[in-house]
This record gives sequence, C-alpha cells and structure tokens, in this order.
Amino acid sequence: MIPDDARHELSKMLGERLALGKSDLALHGRSETWHPEMPPDAVAYPETTEEVADIVRICARHRVPVIGWGTGTALEGHGSAPRGGVTVDFRRMDAVLEVTADDMLVRVQPGCTRSRLAEELRATGLMFPVDPGADASLGGMASTRASGTTAVRYGTMRDHVRALEVVLADGRVIRTGSRARKSSAGYDLTSLFVGAEGTLGLITELTLKLHGQPEAVASAVCGFETTEGAITAVIEAMQLGLTPARIEYVDVATVRILNAADGADLPEMPHLLLEFHGTDDAVAAEAARMGEVAAENGGGDYRWAIRAEERTALWSMRHRAYHTILASRPGATAIVTDVCVPVSRLGEAIARAEAEIADSVLDGPILGHVGDGNYHAILMVDRGSQTEIDEAKRLSDAMVAHALEFGGTATGEHGVGLGKLHLMEAEHGEAWDVMGALKRALDPEGLMNPGKVVRPE
Ligand SMILES: Cc1cc2nc3c(=O)[nH]c(=O)nc-3n(C[C@H](O)[C@H](O)[C@H](O)COP(=O)(O)OP(=O)(O)OC[C@H]3O[C@@H](n4cnc5c(N)ncnc54)[C@H](O)[C@@H]3O)c2cc1C
Repeated sequence: MIPDDARHELSKMLGERLALGKSDLALHGRSETWHPEMPPDAVAYPETTEEVADIVRICARHRVPVIGWGTGTALEGHGSAPRGGVTVDFRRMDAVLEVTADDMLVRVQPGCTRSRLAEELRATGLMFPVDPGADASLGGMASTRASGTTAVRYGTMRDHVRALEVVLADGRVIRTGSRARKSSAGYDLTSLFVGAEGTLGLITELTLKLHGQPEAVASAVCGFETTEGAITAVIEAMQLGLTPARIEYVDVATVRILNAADGADLPEMPHLLLEFHGTDDAVAAEAARMGEVAAENGGGDYRWAIRAEERTALWSMRHRAYHTILASRPGATAIVTDVCVPVSRLGEAIARAEAEIADSVLDGPILGHVGDGNYHAILMVDRGSQTEIDEAKRLSDAMVAHALEFGGTATGEHGVGLGKLHLMEAEHGEAWDVMGALKRALDPEGLMNPGKVVRPE
C-alpha cells in the first residue's frame, strides 16, 4: 500500500482524478495475455506535464513505484504493478498539439492514440504509418519501440520519434532531440527512452516524423504450396527492389480459423497478404511483378485489388486475427511469441517452430510480419492450467533459443515487460548489465516501472 501521506498529497492535487476504486485498479493490473493480474494501489489521470512531474516527485519522496499507462495493449505484463504503486494513465493527455506540414512533423501528447492521430491527419495529405494493429497510444508505442505491419517499408517507432519531453524519476523535465532531421549533439537520449518501457522516465510529449499519403494503394493475397515458397518469394521480392508497404504471413492453421470464424474464403494453404503504396503506375507494376515472383515460388491464385473496401476488409481481418484465434478456443488466453530473425533464416525458424508445435498438445497458429523476419505463434492456453502455461513457455523459449542461434532477437516489437525478462541474459550478456547501470543512473531508487527490462535488484 502507498503511505497515507503520499495518497493525501496526490488526492489534494488531483481530486477525483486519483482513482482508488477496485475496478479501476484491476483494469490497470491486467494484461492482454496470460499474465496474472497485478494491480497498482492508485491510478492517477494527469492533464499536464507539470502534474506528471508533481506526481513523480511525490512518489519519489515516499518511495512509491510509478508505472506509465497508455491504452494497456502491451502483451508481456508491461503495465502491471508487481510492487504496487501509482499508475499514471495518460488518457487525458491525448492532444495533437501541432502539425508542421512543411517539416512533415507532428507534436502530440502521449495519450493520443494511433487512430486519433490518423483522423487528425486525414485532411493534411500526411500520415503516420506505424501500425501495431491495436489502437495503442503513441506514448505506449514509443515506450515499447512498437512496429507492426508497415515496418517493412516505413520502419518502427525508433525511426519515427524525432524528439521527446520526459519526466525523470526525480521529477525533472527534460527535452531530448530536436526538430532537425539530424544531429550529432551528444548521446542519443531520444533513442534511450524509446523502448525503455517507462523504466527510465515518463514521456509527456513526442515529436514524430510523418510521411505523405500515397497516391494509390493496392492490396494482394496469395496462397503458397509451402511456407518455404512464401518466404523465398518475400526474399526475392526484396532483392528485386520491390518495396511493399506490408507483407504478412499467415499459416494454414490461421487460415482455417479465419475461414471458419471471420468469413474469409481462402484456400487452406499458407498465405501472404500484401499492400503496395505509390503512384497508380508504380503500384500496378509492383503488384504485377510480385505476382510473377509468387508464381515462381509455388504461389497460386494471386489476387490484387485497388478498391478501398477490399483493402479495408483484408487488413481489418488481419488486425482482428489475434482475437479471432483466441475465440477459436473459448476461455483461452495466450502466450504470444515475437522472435525476429534475419529474413534469410526465417523459413528455417518457422519450420522449426511448426514442428515443435505439432509435437505439442497445444495449438499455436503462426502469423507475422515476414518482411521484417518477425513472426508470432499464438500459443493458446487455459489460464487456470499451469501445465499448459509451462508447456507454452517451453515452446516459446525454444523458439527464442533458435532465434538467438540465427542471430535474431527474443522480441522484434512487443518488448520485454515481465514475460521476456528471463531471456535478456542470453540475448545481451554483459550488455544487460550496462542497461542496469543506465537504469541505476537515472532511477537510483528503482521506482520507475520496477521489475521490467533490467535484471531485478
Ligand atoms: C491484438 C494486438 C495486436 C498487437 N500487434 C502488435 C504489433 O503488430 N506490433 C507491435 O509492436 N505491438 C503489437 N501489439 C502490442 C501493443 O499494441 C504495443 O506494445 C503498443 O505499443 C502498446 O501501446 P499502449 O498504448 O497500449 O501501451 P501500454 O500497454 O499502456 O504500455 C506499454 C508500456 O509502455 C509504458 N508506457 C506507456 N505510456 C508511457 C509513457 N507516456 N511514458 C513512459 N512509459 C509509458 C508502460 O508502462 C508499459 O511498460 C499488439 C497488441 C494486441 C492486443
């Protein structure tokens, strides 16, 4: 429990914007996946950077943990409160502060969601392309270094955060980066906070890079005789200089579920789902060339379309896929793997994962952002069955071991949270201790989102 003095100070400052009710606390201790609920002791809803700084200062004085919260869609128990404390929910700091069209930049508050930003930008001819599927907040996306379906062309949050305002563990407010396209002015603190999962400070403002909305967009779908053929088609397309905006893989198990539960009408084979952005001519040329590459690798029934309705239907189905898969086993939750490997080793990595899942009692449909070498197995488990959870963890750890052997990473985009913490030693070695030293330098009392990312004290 937080000390009474701390609670009184916070209540005095925030009034009803300090929530202590059970349901609010439970909501902020929950994860989208299998992680057990770990609620905070209070939830604060600040409206300004000054309020965030005051909350952090009060918590620092009373040694109370502080956990940032965007929309709570992270998958590894990132926002849970294993040591209690105050969760800072940024939903009331959701403004789009300034669009500078000539510099192709936007300044936002951290609680602004991806869809809200898209709405604000619609009339400007500009867009923000990072798309993790879930309607996440931009502060949360920066904090997990998120990416998603469009990273193959546009990059991840790492490539899009130009500058930040951050409240440090002692309540100081700093600005990192600038509006300039490049800078050699010292350590790259912006990159340090991107992906820090709120363990080094709370982001209270972001300056993000924008792109022009493409003149034309086409989507394509293609079934393949084998997974290997699908992956080879991806590699060859890249080698030929094709620049799809999305290349997503779905395995046969996923296709079956989408057909049965989401009205898809796909042949029961592994598929690639693609999107192309550019001028009318460029999009048509890329889509047609991709069809040839697919055919050379066992792809059949290649269909591409420029009608917005078809595109929207395809990507809504893809974005719903996680929940559609979960619904195929009523009451199930999941351990979601997130390994990312060099694309040249992706076919091998998926083949090994499929073989291990086939030998297991669990179902684990696979889908992923294969243009980046990143795939997810949705290992479905009964939340009440420790045997199933242990088996899913075993499978997940085996996939990570393969990924590290192939020169990859345990997590391409979801982040560490609690669920991937035990894998950091194997991935980083001594470098993990350096992360710990940085954490101690910026947060000596270990109060910012404790228990995540670095080795527990
Ligand atoms: C169906 C589904 C599909 C998904 N697909 C993808 C995908 O394709 N790619 C991908 O990258 N992710 C994906 N995710 C995961 C998730 O959407 C991302 O991790 C997202 O970036 C989390 O944003 P959020 O606003 O929900 O953050 P939260 O879950 O609220 O927080 C995430 C972390 O950031 C910290 N944090 C939040 N706000 C701040 C802040 N202002 N300052 C400092 N720290 C803060 C939190 O403490 C926590 O550690 C998916 C999730 C779901 C449910």
